[in-house]
Amino acid sequence: MEKDSVLMEKIISLAKRRGFVYQGSDIYGGLAGTWDYGHLGVALKNNIKGLWWKKFVDDRRDMYGIDAAILMHPGVWKASGHVDTFTDPLVECTKCKKRFRADQLEKAGICDSCGAPTGEARNFNMMFQTQVGAVEDSSATVYLRPETAQGMFVNFKNVVDSFHPKLPFGTAQIGKAFRNEITPRDFIFRVREFEQMEIEYFIRENDWEKQFEYWKDEMIEWMDIVGIDQSKVHELEVEKEDLAHYSRRTVDFEFDFPFGKKELYGLAYRTNFDLNIHKLEYVDEENAQKIVPHVIEPSFGLDRTVLAVLLSAYNEEEKEEDTRVFLKLKPSVAPVICAVSPLLKNKPELVGKAEEIFGMLKKEFGRVMWDDNGNIGKRYRRQDEIGTPWCIVIDFDTLTDNTVTIRDRDTGSQIRLKDYELVGYIKDRLN
Ligand code: ATP
Repeated sequence: MEKDSVLMEKIISLAKRRGFVYQGSDIYGGLAGTWDYGHLGVALKNNIKGLWWKKFVDDRRDMYGIDAAILMHPGVWKASGHVDTFTDPLVECTKCKKRFRADQLEKAGICDSCGAPTGEARNFNMMFQTQVGAVEDSSATVYLRPETAQGMFVNFKNVVDSFHPKLPFGTAQIGKAFRNEITPRDFIFRVREFEQMEIEYFIRENDWEKQFEYWKDEMIEWMDIVGIDQSKVHELEVEKEDLAHYSRRTVDFEFDFPFGKKELYGLAYRTNFDLNIHKLEYVDEENAQKIVPHVIEPSFGLDRTVLAVLLSAYNEEEKEEDTRVFLKLKPSVAPVICAVSPLLKNKPELVGKAEEIFGMLKKEFGRVMWDDNGNIGKRYRRQDEIGTPWCIVIDFDTLTDNTVTIRDRDTGSQIRLKDYELVGYIKDRLN
């Protein structure tokens, strides 16, 4: 796929201008690899997280939620292999001294920035270190977790003791992860602080192939739920020699990002590597035998989800006067479900009625925006740009017959509804 830097610039600019995502620490010149989510970005993220939790935890009977601490005992990362092997190959340019990830250079061995040869690659550990307590010695060194997975493995026994689940069952967690990426890039795609949504699904070994296929289908279904364009998603069977040390099979879901086809999600069969290294086991109630369950791990990056959702939703429509930009977000994902406007903001009777309808919708849906700025056409464009599915306008007819205009983002078509029909109309479409 051709690189489309123009599309990427449009998305980044829209995200900043409209309050989705800002450069982290911007007024101090920014901190590379960090981004701050604004009002609409938080809403979008929360909606995605809510849908994920609903699908994978609340709608199931075999899934247990975890929210583990970000700081964990360093022994966890020693055992998991992260201290010794969670590295990327780092090269430094012999001339300009810029640093790169060796496997991400445009041309192997050549500096992306000045074209001079790079030096030999060395292993660079991506975990951030910090100190706990008042003593500054190596015994106090801990790591910010580079994945949420281990927080679930170390709680395996707790979950079993609290809930006595029968195999197969899973644990699910949404939370921050930190990686000192050598070259953070591509907006929120490769960052140093990000959020993951992960599942560790514990199974019997002989079930692994069946379960792998099942979770692959679940992940595909999930992408539909949040509106990720499936025609841009490709499954990559990771080659044996590229598998992580714990994995016997991994499928990456790659997405056609404007900067290339890159990993969106991963699905791994981790065998029973993790429970083994933490010396954890499970007593099979059927025959009282001790076993070490195997694990299927569907792993979803939240920030990459946000980016894929925005890219899938971005639309431009040529109009006579200009270009209409609209985000065709699913209503369940859209940061604002509907906007409410009085036709004119200097007519108290219109404003009063609009306030009443706004209050009613706000109480019902929460994500409702008041918008009385500029003329109606401008308001529609602003709402289109942030993906608001419906705009509701209160005009003089409303005062006599209680009908309002409800305008559809994707088609631009308008219908009139009684004010008391609004909640039902929107609810039907949300479900
Ligand atoms: P990559 O090869 O792109 O570095 P990875 O294979 O190291 O990714 P995993 O360790 O499988 O990634 O992490 C699981 C998921 O977490 C990824 O599929 C991705 O969605 C997300 N993720 C990983 N690293 C980052 C990052 N630096 N920024 C944003 N999301 C990330």
